[in-house]
Amino acid sequence: MRRRPSRSPGRSPRAPGPRRTRAPLPPRHRFRIVVPLVLLAFIASVLLIEGYTTRGFAGDQEGHSGRPATGVPGRIKGGGPIVDTTHDHPRTYRTPDKTVVLTFDDGPDPTWTPRVRAVLDHYDTPGTFFVTGQQTVRHPGILRGLIRSGHEIGVHTFSHRDLTTQSASAVDRELALTQLALAGAAGIKTSLMRMPYSSTPAALDDPAWSVARRLGEKGYVLAFIDQDTNDWRRPGARAIADAATRASRAGARSSSCTTRAGTDHRPSKPSGP
Ligand SMILES: [Zn+2]
Repeated sequence: MRRRPSRSPGRSPRAPGPRRTRAPLPPRHRFRIVVPLVLLAFIASVLLIEGYTTRGFAGDQEGHSGRPATGVPGRIKGGGPIVDTTHDHPRTYRTPDKTVVLTFDDGPDPTWTPRVRAVLDHYDTPGTFFVTGQQTVRHPGILRGLIRSGHEIGVHTFSHRDLTTQSASAVDRELALTQLALAGAAGIKTSLMRMPYSSTPAALDDPAWSVARRLGEKGYVLAFIDQDTNDWRRPGARAIADAATRASRAGARSSSCTTRAGTDHRPSKPSGP
């Protein structure tokens, strides 16, 4: 039987000492390794972006129950709907008496946002739109229209994730992608935010408060609600107006949903990963 020739006949065992640097791969070999890696990274990026931009979500009325809330300060739970956690002593703010702040979540939506904007513009009334990065990427022109009309823009995450169930890196990614979408669509950034699936400060529990503190550290001021019009149930214009103005003598921040009214805002299990 022929013996396999040794690669280095006569070579003596390597003497102990500093490890020798391996010679660089020839260009042909580097090409074989680098190209598949680049392709793999590209495919992973496409799948990630595809997942972020196409998955659906449940409405903000979906909430959690049974989670502890002992860590939420009483002054926050009993405070106003604007929660500022950007410093060591979080505090809340209320809207002035006889003032209603109209807010609209989950847009920009090609059907509802232009209609809402037209009504607001007709009455020369500013609104606050908490947009998702996902919808902003899909409808950048509608976002620019809101800004042209002088309406306020806030962040509502990129893919409407429940931030209380996400890792810190996932929360950071949601914020970064949303700001990127806003910058790309309209050249703006914003530090105003509404967390998906949040409602009133009184409904804050410990996981949500932990996220709120982290968002404050990143410079975000949080907007909650103190009146919910439940317009996704389509109760009729009169009922929506009554709900929005019920507490207006004392000041109220109302919430209204512009997108997927009557469809995706019905209670359902969140889809996607
Ligand atoms: Zn929402």
